[in-house]
Amino acid sequence: MAKKRLVLTFPPEVVERPVVAMMVRDYDVITNILRAEISEGEIGRMLVELEGPAARIKAGVRHLQELGVQVEDAIRDIELDDRLCISCGACTAVCQPRALKVGAPDWELVLDRDRCILCGFCVDACPLQLIKVKF
Ligand code: SF4
Ligand code: SF4
Repeated sequence: MAKKRLVLTFPPEVVERPVVAMMVRDYDVITNILRAEISEGEIGRMLVELEGPAARIKAGVRHLQELGVQVEDAIRDIELDDRLCISCGACTAVCQPRALKVGAPDWELVLDRDRCILCGFCVDACPLQLIKVKF
């Protein structure tokens, strides 16, 4: 099984098509939508994680591209300015994948980028606005 995180950019004419359902139905690829910014009639963007046999993921992605969807590898893009962090733990409380932790022995904030799904919840939680997430 392979896993791939991609950013999909949909032109307006494709925005309303059920492409995620198609990946599951036609290619048997597990498709998790991690973030989405989509409005009817406008360009849409979606961060997805695909899981399945590599050949099926490849075929599904090729089909998306044929439909006009722009496909790019997701760049892990979480920025944390830890020089100013006061280790208050507010961001850890909203981080469901437990990518952010404050704990012994030094009680400093630790970010595990491999666990981060770029959901952005921690961005609003930080009182000092030290975290930025982009995709
Ligand atoms: S973006 Fe989401 S998963 Fe990543 S560190 Fe913040 S809350 Fe956790
Ligand atoms: S919420 Fe902000 S200040 Fe508090 S631990 Fe997280 S990054 Fe540091």
